[in-house]
Amino acid sequence: MDRDLHTKRPKLRDYEPIIGKSLLEELKILADKLSGKRILNINSTYIGGGVAEILARMVPFLNELGVDAKWSVIKGDNEFFNITKKFHNALHGKREEFKEDEFEYFLEINRKNSEEMELSGDIIFVHDPQPVALIKKREQVGEKWLWRCHIDVSNPDERIWNFIKDYVEQYDAAVFSAPNFAKMLKIRMFLIYPSIDPLSNKNKELSEEQINAVLDKYGIDRKKPIILQVSRFDYLKDPVGVIKAFEIVRKSIPCQLILAGGTATDDPESDKVLEEVRQVAGKNPDIHILLLPPDSDIEINALQRAAKVIVQKSLKEGFGLTVTEALWKGKPVVASAVGGIMLQVKHKITGMLCHSIEGAAYSIRTLLTNQEFAQWLGKNGHAHVKQNFLITRHLKDYLLLFLSQYYKDELIYL
Ligand code: UDP
Repeated sequence: MDRDLHTKRPKLRDYEPIIGKSLLEELKILADKLSGKRILNINSTYIGGGVAEILARMVPFLNELGVDAKWSVIKGDNEFFNITKKFHNALHGKREEFKEDEFEYFLEINRKNSEEMELSGDIIFVHDPQPVALIKKREQVGEKWLWRCHIDVSNPDERIWNFIKDYVEQYDAAVFSAPNFAKMLKIRMFLIYPSIDPLSNKNKELSEEQINAVLDKYGIDRKKPIILQVSRFDYLKDPVGVIKAFEIVRKSIPCQLILAGGTATDDPESDKVLEEVRQVAGKNPDIHILLLPPDSDIEINALQRAAKVIVQKSLKEGFGLTVTEALWKGKPVVASAVGGIMLQVKHKITGMLCHSIEGAAYSIRTLLTNQEFAQWLGKNGHAHVKQNFLITRHLKDYLLLFLSQYYKDELIYL
């Protein structure tokens, strides 16, 4: 199935009121310099997950700018995707058992794809480990091969990383999402932060009626201040810690807590976590546990906009897009000082960082009682995201990345 990239989506000009004219002009100038170059993106799915979300927006934007960009996916069966899921976990540091023939099967499916896919273009932009071995085709296809790593490989199972690395180092360059996600490589390395789309359902402006409709749907009265955490039900997001912090705050300030998130079919632990969260919450009518189906973007947007304080009390975190979404909405954020959160939350400037349940409770209380400070943080947080973490900046970085392959030691003049 091909993902339809031409359904009604925002055009680049729709972003002008948000980002201004000059960035749009820069994008056009950079794109013009790529004239004649064909870019082929390859990943392993058209639907589901952040990589597909970004590509579904990036590819039409590149085309709109006159760059010939395409997007293909590799095909695999269950066995292949079970192996790549284990690779994914192992690259995140989880211990997984592998049989020798699983490596062979992985390579076999990559080889088959490299023969059956229509591989053509000047820049072949391969995303994540699943299609990494397509690089074997580099003698026959393309001028430049780039590998985009969307995951945190800073602390991997070395056996799997070494296997993947042998292929990665045959590329011209590798791109990571944050400094602390990367591994040293022999090839050129680039850092490109993730981004959110301010015009997507998850982030676009909503009317008060739309927000109220979502709150009504879940039977939540907005009169009491809402503290919110949006996250998959995962131990690493520490939902139980959030409840404990909330219980401390509630002793002195009337408020309510919403824990909103889904369980994932590929995460057998999430049901257990949800069960534990329900137990700890007990029958407290001020704790709302919302189990959201996938594609609840408008609901998440409305909950974030209705919240007085947004929490992300993760024990470990990748980049933390929920934080980006909260900051974009001008909300005061209390978040753990871990992973990519620290790129987003500058303590007491764009939000509050915390290191414990008590610390989280203290910051939530501060923000609930000092509205002026809370609003100031929210304003700064919004500006920080606008400057650094919107999709248009991401698009500019990709254009510069492509150009840098041709202008190695020269400056690129805008
Ligand atoms: N999200 C969602 N539904 C849920 C929970 C989370 O759509 O039930 C979204 C959330 O709004 C964010 C992304 O999934 O856009 C989670 O990204 P993040 O980097 O915060 O955490 P991850 O889940 O990747 O560890």
